[in-house]
Amino acid sequence: MSVKNAEKIIAPPQYHFVGDGFRVHNFIPGVRELSMKRMSPFILLDYGAKFYFPPSDTPRGVGVHPHRGFETVTIAYKGKVEHHDSTGAGGIIGEGDVQWMTAASGVLHKEYHEKKWSKKGGDMHMVQLWVNLPSQYKMAAPKYQAITNDMMGKHTLPHNSGTIEVISGYYENTKGPASTFTPLHMMNAKLNKNGKAEFSFPSEYNTGILIVEGAVKINGSASVRVNNFVLFENAGETFTIEAQENSVVLILSGKPINEPIAAQGPFVMNTREELVQAFTDYSTGKFGHLED
Ligand code: MN
Repeated sequence: MSVKNAEKIIAPPQYHFVGDGFRVHNFIPGVRELSMKRMSPFILLDYGAKFYFPPSDTPRGVGVHPHRGFETVTIAYKGKVEHHDSTGAGGIIGEGDVQWMTAASGVLHKEYHEKKWSKKGGDMHMVQLWVNLPSQYKMAAPKYQAITNDMMGKHTLPHNSGTIEVISGYYENTKGPASTFTPLHMMNAKLNKNGKAEFSFPSEYNTGILIVEGAVKINGSASVRVNNFVLFENAGETFTIEAQENSVVLILSGKPINEPIAAQGPFVMNTREELVQAFTDYSTGKFGHLED
């Protein structure tokens, strides 16, 4: 095993709003070094850094919109997010929970602040990832996985360093509950001050981490502050994270899907023709129906 070095430390880009409920910094694919191809299978990373929303009787969010060809994964760190889709699936996620929606052949969905939470207001802190699907699964049936925090694989680190909560893939022998179509590891490292954890992934896997809380040192050197993203080289396997204060770090590592990407708006396919088909199917009602 050799060391996997940080290739680039990336400060959060200028935020934008998705609907009126999600104030996000788009790292993938908005940052030049974090293209869909470079980060595959992670083709979008919207990071909602901690932000206070005042009370609102009308829940803020994003209205009905389609997706085809990939999965959306929403991780709540603070706040409560509600979701409904045209297959009838839906749910509410709160602090520490994840919703994993496989859009695949196509769904309509809407994403909102949960009603009661919205009435009180509070800090929203979340991540939305899009995970690409290989061509053979792009037109598979949609599905939905509600992954509450108690379902996650919990690995207790030695020396009171903290806990790794595994969403998908593995940390050492601890497995995450999410089923995935291609090999990918997704986990939150909750580290105590001076806590340390070592991670090891195949060198060719595209790997990056997001500092959700606190500040950490990577491989004993560079210090990285909250809300920054670290891209790792596609060389070496092993890196260490050491918390300089109590920290939460999202870790992503996945086997690249080496296929052409044709992406536009809410559709991510392999070819232009498939994109055109997606728009046609959407406009002719083939994605089902969902009330606003
Ligand atoms: Mn969506």
